[in-house]
Amino acid sequence: MNCPICNSPAHRVFQKYEYWICECVACHHRFVEITPSAEHTSQIYQDEYFTGGAAGYSDYLGEEKLLLEHGKRYGALLKKYTIPGTMLDVGAAAGFLLKGFQESGWQGMGLEPNASMASHGRAHLGLQMETGGLENFSSTQQFDLVSMIQVIAHFSDIRQALQKAAYVTRDNGFWLIESWNRESWVARLLGQNWHEYSPPSVLHWFSPLGLSNLVAQYGFSEVARGRPAKRLNGAHVKSLLGYKLQSSPLSSLQGGLRIIPDKMVIPYPTFDLFWMLFQKKPHSNS
Ligand SMILES: [Zn+2]
Repeated sequence: MNCPICNSPAHRVFQKYEYWICECVACHHRFVEITPSAEHTSQIYQDEYFTGGAAGYSDYLGEEKLLLEHGKRYGALLKKYTIPGTMLDVGAAAGFLLKGFQESGWQGMGLEPNASMASHGRAHLGLQMETGGLENFSSTQQFDLVSMIQVIAHFSDIRQALQKAAYVTRDNGFWLIESWNRESWVARLLGQNWHEYSPPSVLHWFSPLGLSNLVAQYGFSEVARGRPAKRLNGAHVKSLLGYKLQSSPLSSLQGGLRIIPDKMVIPYPTFDLFWMLFQKKPHSNS
C-alpha cells in the first residue's frame, strides 16, 4: 500500500492485533495495512464502542460535562483567530463537544456515524445532528469551521473524507483538528505499546508536519497549533488503561486500577496529543 499523504511506497514496521502498521519511506506517516470495507465505519462505531470499554468508551454519556468543557475551551481558543460562525463537527458522537462550541457562540451541525449517539444529541441537547460519515457527506451549505476532534486518525478513506470537508468549508474558513502525535516522546518511549496503536478503530498515526502536508493538498495552511488541556473521568481512564495494559509489559498494574473512583476527574497529560488550526486559502476548492 502506498502512503495516503504523499503516495510513496511504505514498508511494514510491526504487527498489532493482527494488523500490520506500515511506515512511508518518504514522509514516515504510519498507517494500517487494511482496505476498509464500505461498512467499516458503521461496524466499528456500533453502540458497543460507546459503552463496551475496550478501545472505545465504557460510558460515553458519562463524559458529558468533561466534553462540554473541552468544547468551551476550544471555543475560547478560536476567538483568538476568528469570530464564531457556522460549523460542522465531524464525529460528533452525542454532541457534547458541539454543545460546548455552541455555548461559545458557534452555530453547529454534528455529523456522527452512530445512530444512537446522533439521536441522543437531537433528543437531549436539541442539536442538529446528521447520521453518517464524512466520506459520504454532502451538503449545499458551506461552513466557517469544520472540526475534527479525535477523528482524523479514524477515517476509513482519509482522502475522500478531506475532499468532502474541503468542499463544505468556505474560502478563508477553518479546520480545527485534534489528534495523537506519533512523534511525541510518549509515543517514542512506549514504541509498539503506545496506547494509540489500536487498529482497526485507529487507522493513521500523524505527526504535526505530516498533517500539515496532508491538508496542504486540500488548500489549507497552518494558523496555529498547541496541546489540548484534556481531562478524563476515572471510569474512562480505568477502562482504557485496563484494555491497553493487557498487551503491555505493565499488565501487572491492571488490578491496581480498581482504586480509581469512576467519577474522579483526572487531568490527562497531553504530551502525545496536539491540535492544529488550518485556514482555507481562497479559490482552492480542490
Ligand atoms: Zn508519505
